Amino acid sequence: MKKMKKPQGIILHCTATPEGRSVTVKSIRNWHKARGWDDVGYHFVIGLKGELWAGRSLEFQGAHTKGHNNSVGVAYVGGLTSDGHTPKDTLTEAQEATFLRLLETLRAKYGDLALQGHNEFSSKACPSFDVVEKFGYEVCLRDDPSTQEDESEGDDPDGPVLPLDEIVDEE
Ligand SMILES: [Zn+2]
Repeated sequence: MKKMKKPQGIILHCTATPEGRSVTVKSIRNWHKARGWDDVGYHFVIGLKGELWAGRSLEFQGAHTKGHNNSVGVAYVGGLTSDGHTPKDTLTEAQEATFLRLLETLRAKYGDLALQGHNEFSSKACPSFDVVEKFGYEVCLRDDPSTQEDESEGDDPDGPVLPLDEIVDEE
């Protein structure tokens, strides 16, 4: 496993398991090892009741988001409808509370890491919601486009197009 450098951010995942079904880190570790990985791919897993479980050591890069594994991977248990067929935001209040505390802890350790969802890097639905819509720009430490200054305001670099037939030689 590669050593983690300063993490680039925090990426939220779901375990893609049916709503309400309990899943342990041990079983996720087994699924991931069956894929040939050395360890569970996430650094933290949040159980249905908001339990915070350690996954892979933060000393090592994760195996959770292709091309972005030098980031902290967190997965909440759930993310699918109870029949297991359709992505669904199943984050419980207890899971959300634990996750928000974990964010604070990670930021105290590493500085202001932005929060992103796996679906911002991949066509997958994971974590089955839009993290910015759910938690807000401030919690995600992301730029809110609506508060950004419009740099082009009062300034039209191209200027009005002057019709060619109005250009005359100076007399
Ligand atoms: Zn994911």
